[in-house]
Amino acid sequence: MSTAVYPGSFDPITNGHLGLIKRGLEVFDRLIIAVALNVRKEPCFSIDERLDMIREAVNNHPRCEIDTFEGLTINYAADKGANVILRGLRAVADFEYELQMANMNKKLNNSVETMFMMTEEEYFFVSSKTVKEVASLKGSVKGLVPTVVTRKLAEKFGSPVD
Ligand code: ADP
Repeated sequence: MSTAVYPGSFDPITNGHLGLIKRGLEVFDRLIIAVALNVRKEPCFSIDERLDMIREAVNNHPRCEIDTFEGLTINYAADKGANVILRGLRAVADFEYELQMANMNKKLNNSVETMFMMTEEEYFFVSSKTVKEVASLKGSVKGLVPTVVTRKLAEKFGSPVD
């Protein structure tokens, strides 16, 4: 059975993330969405808020788990019995960092492979950061994030709900 861990901050989850999750579920038997607890950047949403948004967006998929983790992603993946760390690639800008991380992880544990999926073209410009920026300036993020996230951003920033 193939298990992939999809790690990230998901602050908040976007339709770009969701696209990757759906496609990941077509390739892997089991997908674990793993929210990193030890992120250096100050998060906009609490862990519980982020988990709730992911849960609502993913809507109880039988082969998808939602979890949190601390410390090295590679150790978490190995503990979970995962053979793959799944990451997304948007622009060239993602590439250098992802290449470094993938190689470092391989060095730390050779039995877990990092695999990349290219972003879907309609979401190549979508990141949690840009979505928060737009919402904080009261712009509409409709179509870029799940409905639950539009609602949470509207509560936080007063951005439009449609
Ligand atoms: P991190 O803080 O680890 O980058 P993110 O939550 O920002 O966490 O992203 C998690 C993963 O999802 C990363 O591999 C990132 O490249 C990928 N990702 C984010 N947005 C998109 C998108 N629009 N399309 C495809 N992959 C994406």
